[in-house]
Parts: sequence; structure tokens; C-alpha cells
Amino acid sequence: MATVNKVSVIPCGAMTADLTWLLIKPGRSINDRTSKNSPAPWVDVPSHCVLVETDEGKILWDTSCPRDWEERWQPTGLQEFFPYDKVSDDEYLDSRLNQMGVGLDEIDYVILSHLHFDHAGNAQMFKNTNAKLVCHEKERDFAFGFGGLFNGAHLKTDYEGLDFQTVSGDTEFLPGVTLLETPGHTVGCMSMQVDLPDSGTMIFTSDAVYMGESYGPPATPAAIVNNLEQFYASVEKLRDIQERTDATMVFGHDAEQIHKLRLAPEGSYT
Ligand SMILES: [Zn+2]
Repeated sequence: MATVNKVSVIPCGAMTADLTWLLIKPGRSINDRTSKNSPAPWVDVPSHCVLVETDEGKILWDTSCPRDWEERWQPTGLQEFFPYDKVSDDEYLDSRLNQMGVGLDEIDYVILSHLHFDHAGNAQMFKNTNAKLVCHEKERDFAFGFGGLFNGAHLKTDYEGLDFQTVSGDTEFLPGVTLLETPGHTVGCMSMQVDLPDSGTMIFTSDAVYMGESYGPPATPAAIVNNLEQFYASVEKLRDIQERTDATMVFGHDAEQIHKLRLAPEGSYT
């Protein structure tokens, strides 16, 4: 079986937000009558990217949020609901790549799980590099297809003017790296399966599964779901693959899990 050489999980600080955005769950984000007047909890919404090194090139999976989030997100109002306000200068993606000694020109592919503002936020960094930008065909068609500047959490400023190579169906993109269709959160949301020689299979779910509590079982949806039926089907598809491969799951925005992972720039998985 073809495998990957190294995977680095790159932590990029956190947004903060009302938990209800991530998890619609009685007793957690939805209050019972004993706490009628209590505000819903605000939680950390950490953001990460992943660098995958293979014999056939380096992949960056997702690009996190931009440094200029407060101005860029202004037209959408998202900066009031998901402020990227738990991030230090050394946690922005460009700082992290510097710390890892990875130049932008060394990255062969930038694969976006989907084109939401907190995943495609630094895609423009790769505009004049050798990197090929990749997303799902349906995601590109949606993201470029609506009128106006933004639609929900898709913000054209993040990706307009960029050329995307698209994929469709579950795709072994490079040896040991499979892109999995996991729609529901968005029309073209993907997860990434990576097969490593020592660590075995890892699955990066992005927003197909926000956090461990979303995964369950039973699966628990979030406030931002484009198609609920597809969301549930995608979670169960990932669970089937996990059971078959004994994969380590890495969720999109899990504030507890992120601190338990081996994190770049020091840590990695082989
Ligand atoms: Zn998203």
C-alpha cells in the first residue's frame, strides 16, 4: 500500500463563537428551564491546517483564517459571530510555515476542504506560486456561482481570481492521500484520508465533523449545515472507514482534541 512520509498538523490559533453554531445539543448549547436566562456558552473554535509530505509532492490541506479577518469579514458580519481573536502573531499560517522552514514555493498542492472563510482565508497567499489549488467540483461551482460578495460563510474575496483544479468522487489524489466526498456542511465539503507507515490511517474531517461531540455516536449536527441528510450520511461514511481502517480521526474545530495532537512546528506523524 502506498503511504505518505510525514503529516504535520499546523495549529493556527482559534476563533471564538457561541457553541450553538457548532453543536445543537440539549443540555450543552440549548438550555433547559433551570437556565432560561443564562447565555449560551462561548467556546474556542480552533483552526488548523495540515502539511502532507509525499514522494510525489507536498500538500497543504486548508489555509485557516487571514490576518486581516476583521476588515475582510466586515461585509459579512461574521467577525461579530466568529472573531479570530485567540491567535498570536506566531500562530498565523504564514508564521507557522516559516517556523517549519517551508517556503510557499515548496508547496505543490493547496487542497481546500471547502471554501468557507475560515478554511480558504489564506488561499490568496498562493496566487503567484507554483502551487495548484484544488477543491471539489461542486464547491467551486457553488462558490463562484452566486451573485454578490458573499453567501453565508463563502466570501469571494478569499478565492476570486484563483484557478482551481477540481475533483469529484472519492479520489486517491496522491499515493496514500485520498480525498473523500463528505457533503452536508457545504455542497462540496471533503475530508482527507492519509495512510502513514507508523501512525496508520488518519482522517482529517474538516467541517464534515466539527468536534468529537458532533461525531458521537449519535452524530449531532451544527447550526451551519447546508443539507442535514447529507451531513448524517457523511458522518456515517467516515465512521465506516474509521472502523475498517482503525483510523485516527482529527476533527475540524475541536478545542479539546487539538491540544492532544502532536503539533507543528515540533511534532509530526510518520
Ligand atoms: Zn465550514
